[in-house]
Amino acid sequence: MTQKRVLITGAAGFLGSHLCDRFIKEGYHVIGMDNLITGDLHNIDHLFKLEHFEFYHHDVSKFVHVPGKLDYILHFASPASPIDYLKIPIQTLKVGSLGIHNLLGLAKQKSARLLIASTSEVYGDPQVHPQTEDYWGNVNPVGPRGVYDEAKRFQEAMTMAYHTYHGLETRIVRIFNTYGPRMRLNDGRVLPAFIGQALRGEDLTAFGDGSQTRSFCYVDDLVEGIYRLLLSDCADPVNIGNPDEITIKDFAEEIIKLTGTDQKIIFKPLPTDDPKQRQPDITKARAILGWEPKVSRAEGLKITYAYFKSLSKEKLYEDPLGRAFIKK
Ligand code: UDP
Repeated sequence: MTQKRVLITGAAGFLGSHLCDRFIKEGYHVIGMDNLITGDLHNIDHLFKLEHFEFYHHDVSKFVHVPGKLDYILHFASPASPIDYLKIPIQTLKVGSLGIHNLLGLAKQKSARLLIASTSEVYGDPQVHPQTEDYWGNVNPVGPRGVYDEAKRFQEAMTMAYHTYHGLETRIVRIFNTYGPRMRLNDGRVLPAFIGQALRGEDLTAFGDGSQTRSFCYVDDLVEGIYRLLLSDCADPVNIGNPDEITIKDFAEEIIKLTGTDQKIIFKPLPTDDPKQRQPDITKARAILGWEPKVSRAEGLKITYAYFKSLSKEKLYEDPLGRAFIKK
């Protein structure tokens, strides 16, 4: 049997790099692609020596060419944290629109199956709880999150159109908050923010009164769900996330306990359109993929904290987009 070939966009990012690892482990030939705006080559350094890994430094918003056959394409290139999309809103819109159009064209030409990374952000500030896949969402298109949310919604629409109109094999995963090693320490997301603050000896900044909720999934569980979805025959969107919901204030307390910091929680204004609650309904993933998360938050946080502690001191103070330093 010939070896299967997979293209993974956003390969140097948090999720993309873990997906590269998984597909290498499964015996695939992996072609990584990234424009390195938010990705970091350190995440895939260990793969360059492998015969069955190659890397293209390329922006998928521009025409994408990959020689040879392709069996699968996984589109994971996108800024994905509120800080990123505030700083690079146009790129965020382009990768979800021009980028997916290029990749759908490539998938059609290669007769490849394409899986897109969608997000719980398509539900916006949800009025249905927990969120099921048939909920259409409550999104502000012109708010600060609009560039991400609408790009991802457009991406789903475009992908579904290629599926129905061209008969392309497509898969859509709606990813809920995910964490683990290789997250960027200063990308503004709550988990690296809190751990970074604890490591720098700063107070932990909870936004609003900290009563908003999130449900955090450990990266290995997410990757397993994505792998199963890719190989399934389900073209409709599927939620992948961990339903274990917690308030941000309680989460801050867990991080204080985990890190042993003697800093306290301070409260800062809630960002515009910050969703008040979020929890995936994973009934569908359980039924059609036989999937559910296995790693508890306590376990996952321990591994993630060990990773952040192992980073150099310089990384602790690095600006999220690597162009400046927030503090020397
Ligand atoms: N948050 C917080 N302090 C921080 C960073 C984030 O309280 O330093 C809050 C944020 O307002 C949101 C939640 O934590 O309610 C999760 O934020 P994140 O940016 O990680 O992801 P998202 O809002 O996209 O789920």
